[in-house]
Amino acid sequence: MIEDGDITRTRIYADVMAASNDGTVPLHRDWLLGYEIDGERLPLIDPQGRGIRNPGDWRYTLSVTTTENGKYPDRETQPGVWQYPYCINKHGNVDSSNSKLFQAHADGVPLLYFYKPMPYTYLPVGMVVPIARDDSSEEFTIALSEGRVPLSTSSSTVERKWTEALVQRRLHQPRFRALVMSAYDERCAICALPEATLLDAAHIRGDKDPNGQPVVENGLALCSIHHRAYDNRQIGIDEDLRLHVRKDVLEVTDGPVWEHALLELPGRSLSVVPKSRKDRPDPYRLGLTFKEYLEQA
Ligand SMILES: [Zn+2]
Repeated sequence: MIEDGDITRTRIYADVMAASNDGTVPLHRDWLLGYEIDGERLPLIDPQGRGIRNPGDWRYTLSVTTTENGKYPDRETQPGVWQYPYCINKHGNVDSSNSKLFQAHADGVPLLYFYKPMPYTYLPVGMVVPIARDDSSEEFTIALSEGRVPLSTSSSTVERKWTEALVQRRLHQPRFRALVMSAYDERCAICALPEATLLDAAHIRGDKDPNGQPVVENGLALCSIHHRAYDNRQIGIDEDLRLHVRKDVLEVTDGPVWEHALLELPGRSLSVVPKSRKDRPDPYRLGLTFKEYLEQA
């Protein structure tokens, strides 16, 4: 049996981050259920699909998961701090599965935190510690645990790397990417290129802009070329989703790729638009960026 402990948790976290390319590539449910450490299988999420994973002989919860549009959505109250609801059973009572989370709160034990934007798809958000519990609202407050995990000599390098990765990571980016890729069916909005590894979740308004929230209506799935050209304001997209190309770009003729990627665009509309109206590009934000395009044109 695998012993619970800081070192075990740190090793698991390092494996999860490596498998997810530092939290940017979603992990499949099967990978999480089939996870092995020292030759023993240790599912990292609940096999029954609950949002809380309590290995049978462990004293503390191993992971918690938030499902997009789940019955009990979490709320991020400030960057890196969430309200996480107690698990309620079908009789409407606080489920016994919470007891190991209560224990983790009492002893300050870090847990893996996953976000599940769609079925079978899990993004590791980070390691969190339950820092408070409120029995009247039946919620935990969980917070990213940078620097909270005691550094043990044998694993200090791994832990330091993990803490640094957490600090540097733009937490919202993986979540944003997963939602944008799903909304655009993993195709470039401009050319419909269907290759996820060559696609980015582009912001219509950059994340330093007041309108630059990491929400689908501020996003576009774009291939690398079209992303760069859109960010450079060489391509414009107006409020009616029509495409424009800057004059100096149109004057260049540089072979078939250039022609196909840029010269054929004027007068056309976006090739791929999300099926759901609420996921479509926000005309207001498009307009702000289009204005910047026109100023350069
Ligand atoms: Zn493209």
